[in-house]
Amino acid sequence: MKVLHLSAECYPVAKVGGLGDVVGALPKYQVLEGADAVVAIPFYDRKFTREKSFEILFSSTIFLADQELHYQILKENTNALGFELLLVKIPGLLDREEVYCYPDENEQFIAYQLAVLDWIIKQEVKVDILHCHDHHSGLVPYLVKYSKKFNSLAHIPTVCTIHNGQYQGWMSWNDFRYIPEPEEEHNGMLDWGGTINKLAASVKCCWAYTTVSPGYLEELKHDSNGLEFLFELEQGKGIGILNGIDPDIWNPETDPMIADNYKTSSVTRGKQLNKAFICKQFHLDKNKPLFAFIGRLVHEKGVDKLLEAVKEVLSQENPDINVLILGSGEKHLEEELVYIKNNYPNINVFVGYNEELSHKIYAAADFILMPSRVEPCGLNQLYALKYGTVPVVRSTGGLKDSIKDIDEENGYGIRFDNCETWDIINAIERSKKLYFDKTQLKNIRKVMMALDFSWNKSAKQYINLYKRLIETA
Ligand code: ADP
Repeated sequence: MKVLHLSAECYPVAKVGGLGDVVGALPKYQVLEGADAVVAIPFYDRKFTREKSFEILFSSTIFLADQELHYQILKENTNALGFELLLVKIPGLLDREEVYCYPDENEQFIAYQLAVLDWIIKQEVKVDILHCHDHHSGLVPYLVKYSKKFNSLAHIPTVCTIHNGQYQGWMSWNDFRYIPEPEEEHNGMLDWGGTINKLAASVKCCWAYTTVSPGYLEELKHDSNGLEFLFELEQGKGIGILNGIDPDIWNPETDPMIADNYKTSSVTRGKQLNKAFICKQFHLDKNKPLFAFIGRLVHEKGVDKLLEAVKEVLSQENPDINVLILGSGEKHLEEELVYIKNNYPNINVFVGYNEELSHKIYAAADFILMPSRVEPCGLNQLYALKYGTVPVVRSTGGLKDSIKDIDEENGYGIRFDNCETWDIINAIERSKKLYFDKTQLKNIRKVMMALDFSWNKSAKQYINLYKRLIETA
């Protein structure tokens, strides 16, 4: 069974958030389950692409409106990721450094999708499943059904995975010209609320859609940035599959990025050493509990409320916690962070993206804070569990599906209901109590580290879904 994944991100080639982690790991576990999983992403000018060598599999041209574009399909030579990695190179459009945020993002990702479909047709590539991730490849299910240029591929089942329904790839109808040979009577399949909405088009046209946790599947029907009615209508095609983690990369026993490796039996000492290292680097007090936040500094992550809570806690006399924040995102939140760092004790921040530092923090922190307003799955809490770091999470989406509160039987995390300052402060207070109860903390760390959130189970669930779709094809 040949599964072709289309995505904007794939770790370690290009990662901005959880999408990169998932597309860098799920295909590897699908290969282990016997599937021929291949990933095709845009070619970016980044460390990975500069260091690796590639073979040109195919070269041709596509038209984006009336602009002729040359493209190449490149194959990474060493199978470094445990699956076949293809990169779609379009000079001047797709060989840039950043993944997102260019003004011509529509042209970029549409050209990428057109090139992949063009290659499949011209080279007669045998594909059994087209698996599209988020809106960047969201036009594929529409194109194979309703573009005359590509509907020779309409028999291939399409799966769309929603990693984050907040971002939908809105595009003005003025740019409809980028869609080649559309069957105009089906224009409605692209539309939501008067604009082209690529995520909505993907959900409408795919054979099945998945969300990255079962909880998020339900949540989208009530809270999905305007698509609630669509998810209600299409729910028969939906299935929630919880993300996993890749223990080849996320494992405190073998992780080359952390200061000291440790396993369950040495967790107390191991975490102490990692904490001492990071506290020295960031001028924090290793004898106080260390609360960390890692992530995109955006509204959906509840960072505004987190900062209010942190200010409140750190303005008490001689505060008894440390806070370390790693993230980048909205300018006003970045500025607020720097202000807090300069004006409050016991806090440090790293504004930017730093993969290695994130590993060090998962290993060093006592608690990972996640007050998210929206969290489709969340990977931070899963990495935290693996590193014996207690997740302190708001009960939403995948956080609710993966974290059991310590007050429940066999619980191992701290949960709270609202993304509000006082709920976060209360959760920090509960965490402190746990921190000072060394026996309970030790036991909980052992429980957390023994949990299995690896990809094996989820990879099987995806493969079962593909099989079901292929049978009905
Ligand atoms: P999302 O995809 O919404 O950003 P997830 O929890 O699914 O959130 O995944 C976030 C991933 O990105 C995790 O691997 C996390 O460690 C990583 N990450 C987020 N921000 C940073 C950062 N500033 N530096 C390093 N890693 C980061």
